[in-house]
Amino acid sequence: MAGSSQKDKTKLEASIQHECLPNFLRVELWSSIATMVASNSIEDLFNMQASCRLFASACNSDAVYRHASVSVLPIACFLDYSGTPAMTFLRRCAIARNPAAMLRVGMSHLFWCGHRRGGMRTLTEAAELGDVEACYIAAMLLLSLGDKTDDEVIRGFELFCVVRDSGKVERCREVFTQVFAGPWSDIPPATPEDSVSCRSGSCRTRGTIGDDSDLSTVTCVQCLAEYEVRKFLGLIAFK
Ligand SMILES: [Zn+2]
Repeated sequence: MAGSSQKDKTKLEASIQHECLPNFLRVELWSSIATMVASNSIEDLFNMQASCRLFASACNSDAVYRHASVSVLPIACFLDYSGTPAMTFLRRCAIARNPAAMLRVGMSHLFWCGHRRGGMRTLTEAAELGDVEACYIAAMLLLSLGDKTDDEVIRGFELFCVVRDSGKVERCREVFTQVFAGPWSDIPPATPEDSVSCRSGSCRTRGTIGDDSDLSTVTCVQCLAEYEVRKFLGLIAFK
């Protein structure tokens, strides 16, 4: 009797041990868990990735890279991370269409590598995926580049509307004030040169807005965009 109960206990222990192994869940489930971890903290993602081979493979999926919470990294992170594994990670996230990663990689293409059209395309795609900071910078650049087309101006106004509707125009301006401060002036710029003007035929405020105007009374989005572009060009005026 005693022998049989000992056998049962051993069996139970073996079964508990077996059920606690990571293999108990299929790798797809571990990938979903890794996606949740990544969207919460990239540091936890790296720890998970480093802990065993199963987790390393679970972390290596497009969904994980797409949702990784990279917005904690500075927008101009290529200044510090160029050539490091962090930049490789960001590029991998951008390929998986993570909008915050696309913003950072687009900025590096545009301002670091001087790939103007490619950088603009990546920023615009990040904006279309809903990153509000990408909407702001894409709008400002589309509305200020020297050789902009009519389609780009229309797109720029649309993206500015997204930022305005989110109520984050001033916050975005502050974010990019930080971005363009510091070592920025050493970087070959994608020279924005030509500010857009309000094109609305029915606008009553066109050409009347100055630095001391009360913007809360202005209803024309194109006039507001024009004002914001002037502010933006002031940010990146070369010091
Ligand atoms: Zn107007």
